[in-house]
Amino acid sequence: MVATSLVASPAVAPLLLAVDFDGTITMRDTLHVIVDEHGRDGVWDALEPDLRAGRITIEQAMSRQFSEVKAGPEEIFALVRERAGVRDGILELVEFAESEGHRLVIMSAGFRSVIDQVLGDLGLQHLEVVSNEALFSEQGCTLVFSDDRGEVCTLCDRRCKRHALSVRHQGEPIVFVGDGISDRCVSGMADLVFARSYLADWLDERGDAYVPFDDFHQVIEGVRAFQRGEQVAA
Ligand SMILES: [Mg+2]
Ligand SMILES: [Zn+2]
Repeated sequence: MVATSLVASPAVAPLLLAVDFDGTITMRDTLHVIVDEHGRDGVWDALEPDLRAGRITIEQAMSRQFSEVKAGPEEIFALVRERAGVRDGILELVEFAESEGHRLVIMSAGFRSVIDQVLGDLGLQHLEVVSNEALFSEQGCTLVFSDDRGEVCTLCDRRCKRHALSVRHQGEPIVFVGDGISDRCVSGMADLVFARSYLADWLDERGDAYVPFDDFHQVIEGVRAFQRGEQVAA
């Protein structure tokens, strides 16, 4: 039975806002911050030929790299607090999404415990987060890759963010905000993309439209303009 809704339609259609974490919500990628301080020099360079040749996966390479990170969680969280930084306007973006009825999901290839620390400091621990996890210890860090990544993506041949966004998508327009390699594929699902850094360069090369951003105030303005039907991405 289909009930007639007594609730008025919202003035603007709800959106699904998918926001990357590292280098997007944070100013610096927390994985880089951690490896710069605690990683062993040359580990990644030594893995690179095997990675390029497809003999090991990106997950295996990351696991090897992080196994050399020998520090407990408190030390790691203090380091991230000190060095990662938070991009201006994230609190306002969350408030905007919540007051206008948009869903906001954080989609990260990074680590839940680190993300939770940063979000907790901001009072945003209630946000939905899709990510992997890292178990930090003095004996070496163990990475736990999420089951939420589904099967290998047919576009990029990796377990990418597309799966997690697909299963959450309920037909509303998608806005994606990101900066990195792990955002390439998923950005193609969005109706409106905000990009910076590597992702912006990659979209430029492909001739795909996006809106550049330095802070989340610009993202809010861009979303509002998009909702007014203005052409915001170029
Ligand atoms: Mg990123
Ligand atoms: Zn993909």
